[in-house]
Amino acid sequence: MLKATIGAIYRYACSVFTHRAEANRKSIERIDRRIAQCCRRLYRTVGYYPASVISGSTSLELDIVYQGLKMCQRKGWPIMKGLKLSLPDRALDSKNYVGALKKCLILEWHHRYELRSSQWTRRMISHVQISLPEDMCFFLAQALSGHGCFRQYRHRIGKPVSPTCPCGTGEDESASHIFENCPRFKEGRPCALKAEDP
Ligand SMILES: [Zn+2]
Repeated sequence: MLKATIGAIYRYACSVFTHRAEANRKSIERIDRRIAQCCRRLYRTVGYYPASVISGSTSLELDIVYQGLKMCQRKGWPIMKGLKLSLPDRALDSKNYVGALKKCLILEWHHRYELRSSQWTRRMISHVQISLPEDMCFFLAQALSGHGCFRQYRHRIGKPVSPTCPCGTGEDESASHIFENCPRFKEGRPCALKAEDP
């Protein structure tokens, strides 16, 4: 609801300011990141792209670009300069143009996600469009982001706690250790999460 309300404000007449979306990307991302963090109760330290993907929402900036360009194509308006994106050929008919535009923006979103997300989150969510459980809880969101109750993370943000897992293996208590290797949680661990499996 929060995203829908704020997103609607941004999308209003966005064809007029689509060309400024790139220049204002940081401020748009700051707001969108906070929305994604609120929606999934993610820690404030979770970056924008992992937060938006875990929250299951598209990038607001790219959404503005999509809505704006779609309108330009439909009305035959020129596309303003200033967009640093590879865009489809405008000679395409409207339906094919919109489909190709959508693909371009999803590729861009995925590219940014790969550049700006942790290896752990990318392992858990390999593509921005993967379907996630609708009833994702606080704990699953922590597990996917790797930020939260894990000792390694708490140590990294300055909490007075050792990063080492109390299981005795000497490994840091990270999300990957808890889910894949820690003997404390061996019982009931799904085969898909066992480290020895491909
Ligand atoms: Zn352990």
